Amino acid sequence: MLRLPTLDTLELSVLAFPRRPYHRLVKDDRLVRDARPSPVSDVRASQRVLEDALAAWEPSPLVPRADLPDHAREGWRRLYEMNGWPWNASEAVDLRTRWRGRVCDNSPRLSPTRIDMPLVLLDAWLQVQDEAGSVLPRWVRENWPEIRTMARDLRATACRDASCAWCTTNLSPDHWLREVFGFDAYREEPALPDGTSLQRDLVARGLREQSTFGILPTGGGKSLCFQVPAEARFRLLGQLTIVISPLQSLMKDQVDSLKDRIPHGRAIYSGLPSLLRPHVLEEVRTGACGLLYLSPEQLRNRGIVKLLKSREIGAVVFDEAHCLSQWGHDFRTDYPYVLQAIRRITQTGPMPPVFLFTATTQPDATREIIEYAQQFSGHDVELVDGGSARVNLTYEVRQVAPPDRVETVVELLREHLQDGSAVVFCSSRNRTEEIADQLTAMGFPRSTTTPDSTSTSAASARTTSSAATSAS
Ligand SMILES: [Zn+2]
Repeated sequence: MLRLPTLDTLELSVLAFPRRPYHRLVKDDRLVRDARPSPVSDVRASQRVLEDALAAWEPSPLVPRADLPDHAREGWRRLYEMNGWPWNASEAVDLRTRWRGRVCDNSPRLSPTRIDMPLVLLDAWLQVQDEAGSVLPRWVRENWPEIRTMARDLRATACRDASCAWCTTNLSPDHWLREVFGFDAYREEPALPDGTSLQRDLVARGLREQSTFGILPTGGGKSLCFQVPAEARFRLLGQLTIVISPLQSLMKDQVDSLKDRIPHGRAIYSGLPSLLRPHVLEEVRTGACGLLYLSPEQLRNRGIVKLLKSREIGAVVFDEAHCLSQWGHDFRTDYPYVLQAIRRITQTGPMPPVFLFTATTQPDATREIIEYAQQFSGHDVELVDGGSARVNLTYEVRQVAPPDRVETVVELLREHLQDGSAVVFCSSRNRTEEIADQLTAMGFPRSTTTPDSTSTSAASARTTSSAATSAS
């Protein structure tokens, strides 16, 4: 029996089921607790897996040509012959034709010196890659890390040939903007020194895997800068983009507002309803999710770390990156821990590129954040500073004695407020109520809001105010 040729059903099942390549032996007898191990039932279960795989498989013409160890080669040959499939080891397979429309036509990978198991597995995945959510399982990536490089070279590395249909669409920031958001052009402001769109530049950096720290003013379309490349990574390479975000409410809002554009976006945070959590975890594990918002403390959870190991992480994004600065008042203790956790998740594999975004930092904090990102990612991180000034806002600081403050606010409101609304910021909840009562008494209709964090208070001011003033 030991002299019989062997066939690895694990490899066969990835080739047969590239859409959901999860090879698991369902041991019926083990469903009964304390049942004794039964080698015979295990063999029968293996036979069922083999039969299922053979029924589903469209035999690959690449296997007969593959350079495999003798025992494996003999196993595959017998399998082909038993099923009446052609075993034409000498017949050339033209990869250029087989992969047309799925890869860059100019890639040197189209003329490989040898065909081996990683190439056969990559070929199986390429046959189904246009269906988002098909990802190669972890054991394949760990056994043959070169598959990742091959896929990247073929599908995500620009050849610079202006007539290459693949690269001019699939590696173009404009193509992905249309694809995801339906817009024809990026915002013109803020602009780079050469006058081109900074937003477009940040998306292009995302597509090129070039680690970057981007500063954009609030309302400058920051999220789009990481959402567009995330979609491209997911569709081109099946990769997962992780977005670290400090506020649960922001995460939930972003995922909800993306529903029509990036329907596979998900968020994991402590407040995620417990009924939903298992579904989200399953979607991350199987590859159905390509964009994952994560609160930083989740990376201290062993279950989450194990879950993320099942995926190829294409990029780590820090939203509100100023939370990394220990000198700022928004410092979050779990933020600096994130890249160490990502390193543990990727283990010996390459560290994904890192993208950091914020609307507000001081020069010291900027330096500190870049140093941190470079030290723990091992990548050079370039600064792209679009400034945090908002052209539609002006600021003025006036010194006013405490007894005159309400009166000054009233004057300002009378002077500037015609239609619409204004926001008056105060230092405490009680003071807010007091000022609101006084303004109401003077004929200003009001709605008092006392948000529980400065960030949400700023957000409400952005969306509701035509003039903002501070009275505390
Ligand atoms: Zn190309």
